[in-house]
Amino acid sequence: MTVEVNGRMYREAWEHHKNQWRGCTKCPLHSGTSKKVLVKGMLPCDVLFIGESPDILESVIGIPFSNPAGKVMDSLIEDTKRRFTYAFTNVIACPSTGDEGESRPPTNFEAEKCSPRLYEVLMMARPKGVVLLGRSAQSFAISSLEKYKYPYKHLNLSHPSHIMGLGGRTSPFYEKELKLLITFLKRILDEEENKDLEN
Ligand code: SF4
Repeated sequence: MTVEVNGRMYREAWEHHKNQWRGCTKCPLHSGTSKKVLVKGMLPCDVLFIGESPDILESVIGIPFSNPAGKVMDSLIEDTKRRFTYAFTNVIACPSTGDEGESRPPTNFEAEKCSPRLYEVLMMARPKGVVLLGRSAQSFAISSLEKYKYPYKHLNLSHPSHIMGLGGRTSPFYEKELKLLITFLKRILDEEENKDLEN
């Protein structure tokens, strides 16, 4: 698991989180996963990226956004030319697949059962902003996070696999998404810097 945790309190929270969720059987998806796919990145961090669900490959190694879609996210972050800390997670921690083994969005039941895990990640990340990747993440994550009344600024971006399908890094669609991310980062990071200067 590629996670860097800063501070004793967060390290203890992360150890507890891993131990608690590694063996989770709260929804039927537990039977189709090799490993729970929890978090990648730094805790706490400036920005938490939330996708929909891991794929089978990610569940083999247990790291979210470790697939080609994750590479698109790496490019987007690099192309913002901003220095900030970040982490990735998903609405659910096990792959959601249909009868033919194809990827499908999580059901309300699955998302609901995994929502306390998402909230714990949010509490360890303590981000200045949340970026929701794809429609399903946007609807499920917002309802989960609103349930817990976490005050956050958020940006809706397309899921990186959708960006890949539209031509990837060299496409106009990628440029559009990049501009949205740059504007959002300016808003959340510069606002925070200005607050620090005022204090
Ligand atoms: S998706 Fe979430 S709630 Fe369902 S088994 Fe996996 S970790 Fe548990």
